[in-house]
Amino acid sequence: MSILHNDIEDLSKEDLKNLVHSLKKEIFQLREIIDNVPGDVYWKDTSGVWLGINARGSESLKKMGFPSAPKDVIGKTDSELFGEETARHFKENDRIIMKEKREISQEESAILDSGEKIVQLSIKRPLYNELGDVIGIVGNTVDITYLKKIENDLTAAKEKAEAANRAKTEFLANMSHDVKSPMTGIVMSSSLMMKNPAWLNVETAERIHASAEQVLNFFDSCLELSKLEKSELQSEKESFSLPVLLNEVHALFSPRAYAKKLFFKFDHESDVPALFTGYRGTLYRVILNLIGNAVKFTEEGGVTIRVFISEKTDDTHLTIGIAVSDTGPGIPEDKHQVIFEKLHRLTPSYHGKVEGSGIGLYIVDQYTQHMSGDIKVASEVGKGSTFTLFVPLALSDESSLSDQERQKHRALLQKTSVAPTRITEMPRKTTSPAVPPKITLDEHSPLVLVVEDNLTIQMVTEAILNSEGFRVDIASDGKEALEMFKPDTYLCVYMDMGLPDKQGHEVAQLIREKEISLNANTKTPIVALTAHAAVEVKAFCEDAGMQGVFSKPINKEKID
Ligand code: ADP
Repeated sequence: MSILHNDIEDLSKEDLKNLVHSLKKEIFQLREIIDNVPGDVYWKDTSGVWLGINARGSESLKKMGFPSAPKDVIGKTDSELFGEETARHFKENDRIIMKEKREISQEESAILDSGEKIVQLSIKRPLYNELGDVIGIVGNTVDITYLKKIENDLTAAKEKAEAANRAKTEFLANMSHDVKSPMTGIVMSSSLMMKNPAWLNVETAERIHASAEQVLNFFDSCLELSKLEKSELQSEKESFSLPVLLNEVHALFSPRAYAKKLFFKFDHESDVPALFTGYRGTLYRVILNLIGNAVKFTEEGGVTIRVFISEKTDDTHLTIGIAVSDTGPGIPEDKHQVIFEKLHRLTPSYHGKVEGSGIGLYIVDQYTQHMSGDIKVASEVGKGSTFTLFVPLALSDESSLSDQERQKHRALLQKTSVAPTRITEMPRKTTSPAVPPKITLDEHSPLVLVVEDNLTIQMVTEAILNSEGFRVDIASDGKEALEMFKPDTYLCVYMDMGLPDKQGHEVAQLIREKEISLNANTKTPIVALTAHAAVEVKAFCEDAGMQGVFSKPINKEKID
């Protein structure tokens, strides 16, 4: 409806009445529309004074500390309403909108009176008069809190899925190392035993047994993980003897600690009762994993297990603390949480340092929750780690024990308890072949350098090479290999790819550099040995100046 001033003068009283009526109607309808569009609509003049706001906007402002909106808002400036700091930001935006005559759209967050934080999307544009002059700004603000939440949840889910995918890839790489290395040892040792009865000896059997145990442990962890995934964790409370449980774990890890020349001490505080009711099976697995890691990751010093009363809840219930401390490599502080995540390892096992699947501490965490317990990590890189388990248990008595548990408990009381144990002797096992080679070797027999950290594979590779008429030098890691390597000395070098200190191709590169610096006459062939599929590592082995890649196990045909 467009009516000019002159037209109005020509109107009759009746027409004027009708006009006012229809204008009123139109204004009412426009107001209704503005009040009902989605979002808060508001408009301000060029000085930032609030001129109007729709009904939804008033409702929103009521929740933001303006109970009489729109009355206590209209006629005020942003500074009066929201304080100087927020207003400065609004004013700057308004200035740009009016000066550049363009729309600005942005997300803003606000805190409601209730304390709830909301996220809004504000779209502001210049407000024009009928002559096309900018007379202020008009804004439309929509609450997008729920959309933002969905967006954040989706991003978190995506990141989680990506992390899980990365962990899965790494797990597969670890798995092919952790299963293939010991399996290689088993296959090599047993095929030697089949070919030559002289190899049927205790040392070979021990090595086969140790390798088989490693594979079995790995599959045990996988099985446990799959049970946890399927929520099949079933564990009943039972009465048990804590000293018996600790003694069993001690017996299991003593040989390993002994072989690594580590001390392995139990410090069982004398006021700790012996008999409890609780999730024995679950507790056993948690302690097994913690002590297993401590022994596995520690190369010097040893492991101490301290058992103490952490809290007496009442006459029959208490929380027992079990602290497993080691003098191993330690864990950086920012990694104290992530190590409990499924499949998370600080160093992948295919880098050769220590085998493992990254499942152990995830199981520890899940089982600890199942027991309503808690676990804390204190660790310093280079000094060691202490994992302390807190587990609530109820006191029990002998009459509640199963017959078998009672017998074990009594037998243990008669023997020495799990008193501090210190193990110091025991030299490292040598890698000399268990069986003298068939062929007599002398100083003219060609010499081969084998760089390999796995004892079984060292032993068997050496025996195979000996039996083919080669003398063998063995280096257990990259550093040793570089020290031992002399140009024009070795017929060839067999290089394991996953060494404890370096990757095989890095060592090969350093060997090439050593040859150049010592003006070698020939390039000694270097052949990679890998538990991974040979084709995967071929490219970077060639880049590192290596002559070939063998997938383990090595056998006579490959040597020929
Ligand atoms: P894994 O099978 O690799 O041992 P875990 O879940 O038991 O898996 O442990 C996850 C990672 O936490 C390990 O790979 C290691 O990096 C770190 N870790 C666990 N225990 C220790 C420890 N006692 N000392 C040093 N690092 C540890």
